[in-house]
Order: sequence, then C-alpha cells, then structure tokens
Amino acid sequence: MQLIPGRFGPRAYLTTLPGARPHGTIPGMKRLYWTQPDVGETEVEVVTVGPNQVTIEPILFHPEEGGQPADQGHVGEAVVNEVRVVDGQVVLTLDRPLTKGRYVARLDRQRRLHTATQHTAQHILSGLAATQFGLTTVGVHIGREGCTVDFDQKLEWDVAEELERRATAVVMLDIPVETTFQDQDTQVRSRLGQIESDVVRIVRIGDVDTSACCGAHVKTTGQIGIIRIFDLESKKQGTRASFLAGARALEQAQTETGVLRELRKMAGCASADLPAMFQKTTERSKELAKEVERIWSLRLADLVQSVEMVAVGPAQIGLYLGELPRELTAVLAGMIAEAIQGAGVVVSGTNVAISSRTLDAGGLLKKMQSVLGGKGGGSPKSANGRLDRPVTAGELLNILKQE
Ligand SMILES: [Zn+2]
Repeated sequence: MQLIPGRFGPRAYLTTLPGARPHGTIPGMKRLYWTQPDVGETEVEVVTVGPNQVTIEPILFHPEEGGQPADQGHVGEAVVNEVRVVDGQVVLTLDRPLTKGRYVARLDRQRRLHTATQHTAQHILSGLAATQFGLTTVGVHIGREGCTVDFDQKLEWDVAEELERRATAVVMLDIPVETTFQDQDTQVRSRLGQIESDVVRIVRIGDVDTSACCGAHVKTTGQIGIIRIFDLESKKQGTRASFLAGARALEQAQTETGVLRELRKMAGCASADLPAMFQKTTERSKELAKEVERIWSLRLADLVQSVEMVAVGPAQIGLYLGELPRELTAVLAGMIAEAIQGAGVVVSGTNVAISSRTLDAGGLLKKMQSVLGGKGGGSPKSANGRLDRPVTAGELLNILKQE
C-alpha cells in the first residue's frame, strides 16, 4: 500500500489512476474489483495496446498497485502474466497475442482471496491502531509469503495482543466492506487533505476504518477468518508488525505449534515451562563448559611435555595434535613456544593455533591452509584459524617440513 502522509492524510492510500481523464467521470465503476469484489469470471471487451498487451473492460484484474500484488488468471486461453497501471490504464501482459474482441476473463480466485484477505485485515489493524491506540500507519506490504504494517511509534506485545483480540471481534461482527465514490466532496477533501484527481474511492468498514483506497477487498469482515500478529520488529522510532490473516494465518500458527510440540517432546515439559527450562539448560551448559576448561587447563603443563618436536631448518616446532577445547588451543600454543623457545603448533579437530618466537606464525598457518583449506590468519607471533578438514599427524609433519 502506498501511503502518502501529509498529502492524503494518515490512512488514505493512493486512490485513483494517475493520468488525465474527463472531469467528473468515474473510472472506478469499470473496476469490477471495486464494486463487485466477489465476481471471479466475466465477459470482457479486449483492446490490443502492445505486443501481448491488452486492456479489458470491465477491469476484472487488480493491478500491482498500492502495495497489493497483482491478480492472475486468464483472458480466453491467454495466461495473464502481469497487470500494471501504464499511463492511467490498467494494462495486462499476456503469454500470447490476443486480437480485439469479446472474451471470458477468469480470475485466479485463490490468489485474489489471499491478497484481498490480507489487505482487508490490514485496514482493520490500521484502523483500530489509529482510533484506539493512537498509532499511525506509515507503510504496508502485502506479500505472498508474509505481510507487514509499519506504525510510527513503538508497539509492545501486550498492545499487539489487544489489537489482535479487537481485530478478531471486528471479524466476528461480519461488517460489510463498503465502497463509495466521492466526486469533489468537500467534506472528504477537507478530511483527507488536498487530492488532485477527480474521484476519490472511499472504503469504509463500519466505524473501524474509513480510508481512501485503490485495493481489492473481501465483501464482509467475516470472510477474513483470523488475524494474527506473529512478530514485532523495532524500526527507528516505530514498529513493524508482521501479520497474516485467514488460511495463511492458520498455516503459520500450525507451523509454530509444531515447533512447540517438538520442543516439549525434547524438554519433557509443558509449553509454559519451556522458557525457564531453556534458560536453566543454557546456564548449565555454560557452567559445564567452564568446568571442562578448568580440568583441561590442569593438564596443559603435561601436554607441553608430550609435544612432538619438528625441525624446520634451524627452527624448532613443538607440535600437539589431539583433543583440546577450542578456547585453550592458543594458550597451549603459547606455552609450547615459551617452553621450547621456538614455535608451538596446536591442532584440535579443525581448530589451529600457532604461537612463535622464531618462525612466522601467520605464514605457517597460510602454508597449512594452502594444502588443507580453511579460514583465519594472524601476525608473525601468533595465528588462529580453522581448517576445512581434520588432518593426520603424517600429513601435518609433511606440510611443516616443506621449505
Ligand atoms: Zn484497501
């Protein structure tokens, strides 16, 4: 939905086709999705306007406009690939040329139902947010996978949940979504601010929302089903709320319930106890990691004694290849370098740490990575990284001995 704050007012969406038209005409009457949103099939007059491009009357297909994705479907045998507003006309791009004449146009009803459901749900959310919580809608996205509405202020979860409950109440009241056309209506104009075009299409959902809007809607709010807010994300001064309505909301809720079910099974507790269980497990895991590190650190002095010595020219390398927590690889490498007054190389799994008083540690790591692959680097004194695969002692000795 394209919002033009300050020009159209806070909840007015781009309403009319751009481009000139005779003053006082109401082109909206030809837009079937404005006046009869439940019509999915009708005979239309086709006029060719370009290669594989036509206009039709009445206009059955909603174009990609105002943040709502375009409708899809057929005109005769031709598949509608794209519906766009071009120079004030709704132009269909087809998969084949179509000659002038009368054809039956058919809408992809599932797709329309999806976009109209999400879009009408957004009217309800934006309307309630404005009138009951003082939140102004500053942006909207209606997508195939997800929908978002951006508010100008911070929205906390307790308010979002209340918004969901009130939106559900609006759905259950099955309120008609009414369309009216206002031609030079001074009252509408003063409410919405200055509007340059001749005709304003007003969409009204009871006393919940009244907006100037160009989109396709469901006929009554009862058709929406459920409206769910699934996520809140901070956006500068405001909040982006991710929402879904109808069948997509149910699908998403089922997916999330499935995740909870898996977590309950793994944790062996009720959903309500999961956060505390997760926190306890994380804390325990940190404690254990510390304990493991402490026990290993007691062994480091012994490990220094067990290193394999490798001579590279006049320089000495002390090599440790074996198990060790990643956090201690650099510590052990430093201890080896100190003890032998040379270079310490520690390889544990794919983790590598090198400390050196003689050879170039960073260069040595690069040499290993040129054969074994991996990431990381360092200075002549110390280097850390990962290898793409574990390495055997023989292989490592060969690499280190290479000049
Ligand atoms: Zn709308």
